[in-house]
Amino acid sequence: MAEQEGVIKFSFEFQKRENVPEVPWEVQAWRDLFVRYELIGQLPGRYDGFGFGNLSCRVGAAFSITATQTGGLKCLEDSDYALVDDWSLARNHLSASGVKEPSSESLTHAAIYDSDPGVQFVFHVHSPAIWQARQQLRLPETSAEIPYGTVLMAQTLKSLARELGPDGIIAMAGHEDGIISWSTTAVGAGSLIFKALHQQMS
Ligand SMILES: [Zn+2]
Repeated sequence: MAEQEGVIKFSFEFQKRENVPEVPWEVQAWRDLFVRYELIGQLPGRYDGFGFGNLSCRVGAAFSITATQTGGLKCLEDSDYALVDDWSLARNHLSASGVKEPSSESLTHAAIYDSDPGVQFVFHVHSPAIWQARQQLRLPETSAEIPYGTVLMAQTLKSLARELGPDGIIAMAGHEDGIISWSTTAVGAGSLIFKALHQQMS
């Protein structure tokens, strides 16, 4: 099923504010690497030119996430992240604040944070190479039958992530090239993506 990248499918409340929390350097460093490998970005031939990929980290009871349509920016400032401080998978709703609105994939990240209190970092990238090799790599995956951005998808992700524990990687069969990883550390979440990328080459 074709679906459009970058379209927000949940309802949200957004409060504009200038004093956004500082984002840990690890998130920025991993983003630099993902941009170089075109796992995050905005490229003419991909997804009708929409930006793709987004990163988040837990901040107390909230999480900071890259703002919507920042894929094309080479370097991000703290103001390119929004703070998501409340969410409900059941209601397909969240509330956020910041200079810019949160990523269209924020509810997907929220589902992973809900799965285990130990999760501190969630990285979502788009990798045609890993996605196409997901079966050989035996990556856990969410069914292609579940439309992306629905309540059912968020709940499926949450229960699959819960089975996998505080570190994991999932291919989203219903979301073209979509890969999501998470961990208690940034290096843990980032390594799972590069491990899969390496394994599909060998
Ligand atoms: Zn995506």
